[in-house]
Amino acid sequence: MNPVSNNPPVDLAIIGGGAAGLTAGIFAAQVAGRSKRVVILDGAKSLGAKILVSGGGRCNVTHEAVRPEDFNGSRNLVRNILLAFDATAAVRWFASLGVELKREETGKLFPVADSARIVLNALIGRFEELDGAVQCGCRVMKIFSPGEDDPCFKIDHGRGTLRAHRVILSTGGRSLPRSGSDGSGWEIARELGHTVTPTYAALAPLMLDAKMFHADLAGIAMEVELATFIEGKRVDCRTGSLLWTHFGISGPVVMDASRHWIIPHEMGRKPVMKCNLLGTETFESTERWWIDLAGTRPKFTLGNALAQRLPERVSAAILSHVAIDPATTCGQLSREARRALVHALTALPLPITGHRGWNYAEVTAGGVPLQEVNYRTMESRKIGGLYLAGEILDCDGRIGGFNFQWAWATGYLAGTAAGR
Ligand SMILES: Cc1cc2nc3c(=O)[nH]c(=O)nc-3n(C[C@H](O)[C@H](O)[C@H](O)COP(=O)(O)OP(=O)(O)OC[C@H]3O[C@@H](n4cnc5c(N)ncnc54)[C@H](O)[C@@H]3O)c2cc1C
Repeated sequence: MNPVSNNPPVDLAIIGGGAAGLTAGIFAAQVAGRSKRVVILDGAKSLGAKILVSGGGRCNVTHEAVRPEDFNGSRNLVRNILLAFDATAAVRWFASLGVELKREETGKLFPVADSARIVLNALIGRFEELDGAVQCGCRVMKIFSPGEDDPCFKIDHGRGTLRAHRVILSTGGRSLPRSGSDGSGWEIARELGHTVTPTYAALAPLMLDAKMFHADLAGIAMEVELATFIEGKRVDCRTGSLLWTHFGISGPVVMDASRHWIIPHEMGRKPVMKCNLLGTETFESTERWWIDLAGTRPKFTLGNALAQRLPERVSAAILSHVAIDPATTCGQLSREARRALVHALTALPLPITGHRGWNYAEVTAGGVPLQEVNYRTMESRKIGGLYLAGEILDCDGRIGGFNFQWAWATGYLAGTAAGR
């Protein structure tokens, strides 16, 4: 890795060498040519910690179909940004870096080699091949914008000061702070004149009240429907795989739904999440099923009947939850008990106490509003020569490779423009 002296100024300094920063660095160095100096400064000891842990160590690089609806953020701006560098462009670009991607059943794209390390090495390798310089262990504390005394940005970091003609801020969000992404970039952006919308954990596992039965079901995954309500109004509903754990619930459907509970909760509202353990069955269809069973198989026990639809441990936990003996037969089930059971099966209230913390959240909701950057270049509308890319911006995607696609797309736009 090339050392970088504090003087004279570099052409472009990229603060944060994660997915967005590395992408920006590659495109900037490509556009600018070898005579220009492009430097990545990163506070971590080495680059790409989050890429390495992503997708369970396999890195879910992108998704076969990336649509603006897969993101939370200003829809039109998100659409325009994604159009500039879509999933096809990402697949082609990674192939040019020597990383072939494969599609899984869910539409998620992973490296053929199932290795996040290959993705990271390809990005760093390409950047260094283009004579880009990387300085790790340089945590940036403050950036001074160009002024009358100095036409360059002045970047104060742990090891000194760097001057740069242009700066890309790609410091990520707050998730997994030990990776180096601790939210400090927002303070820098604020001091440079940007606003930062409140930030919340998104794509996070949720904790349940210790009195709930989740710990008894730890390790069981099942297809469910999760719905979130605020003051009785349904604000989110999605289906997918839920994983019961010793602390509460996790799995893709929970991670995707989590922001709809976390954000209103942290705003002092009282969101309620309910789980339909029978997927998309309704109260009516489930009640009809029990009534039919009472007629056709009156001696069938509730435990055995439920075991046809649910994992055994789950059916035992639900019956215990509604205080019904599993040995009760379908013919003995009173109307009142039947309705309580159907409620528990199709709209089980989940006693959520909070999310599992920033070490377990995959992404941050909130950040620098997209309206404060030019969507064609990612250049700041507050300060010329400053660009923003990646999770630092107020946009977050659902599980499935969408957050990396956001990093590649915004990194591409910022790098191409800043390198010009
Ligand atoms: C466990 C986990 C699994 C994930 N899996 C996936 C997945 O499979 N697919 C997917 O699409 N998304 C996944 N994500 C989300 C994805 O990793 C992020 O959205 C993406 O990494 C954001 O890229 P970024 O470059 O904006 O920020 P980051 O990757 O967070 O990079 C920011 C960089 O900036 C540096 N930095 C921060 N502050 C400073 C400072 N003050 N000075 C200097 N450097 C600084 C950090 O050290 C870091 O290197 C996952 C996230 C986690 C936590």
